[in-house]
Amino acid sequence: MGTKGKEIVGSNVESVLKLLNKAFADEWLAYYQYWLGTKVAKGPMKEAVIAELLQHSADELRHADMVANRIIQLGGTPVASPKAWYEHSNCGYDAPDDPYVSVLLDQNIKGEQCAIGIYNAMLDQTREADPVTYNMALQILQDEVEHEEDLQALQEDLQLMVSRRA
Ligand code: FE
Ligand code: FE
Ligand code: MG
Repeated sequence: MGTKGKEIVGSNVESVLKLLNKAFADEWLAYYQYWLGTKVAKGPMKEAVIAELLQHSADELRHADMVANRIIQLGGTPVASPKAWYEHSNCGYDAPDDPYVSVLLDQNIKGEQCAIGIYNAMLDQTREADPVTYNMALQILQDEVEHEEDLQALQEDLQLMVSRRA
């Protein structure tokens, strides 16, 4: 940990670390939810949906990496046990029990909307206190906004196709 880099965050370090570890748990659960979705998906436009879910799973894993690096820079420890992800998570985990593409899309849209709220709040909580975490949260937020839009566009195409066929 860099001492000056940590010093500028001052007395806010502990509260920022708490936010970061919650986001870290969210990212792993989001990664796994997407990844498993690519394995089980069934239904119309399956290929396109799987391709998008796979890209997003890679993005969520990259976010987990970014958040872990920031936690370590601040002298913290990323949540060490997967069991604890549930306790820390803001957005939780929606198991892809129903493999129908439209259901998977809805579950992941819900997850993205939660993530957008969380990173937007992180921006408010770090704007003054911690510009480095602020910058990281902004980069991740941009991805989550894109993810939501991608999934909603797929859902729209899927619904159009299904309704035209009926
Ligand atoms: Fe993410
Ligand atoms: Fe996302
Ligand atoms: Mg995408």
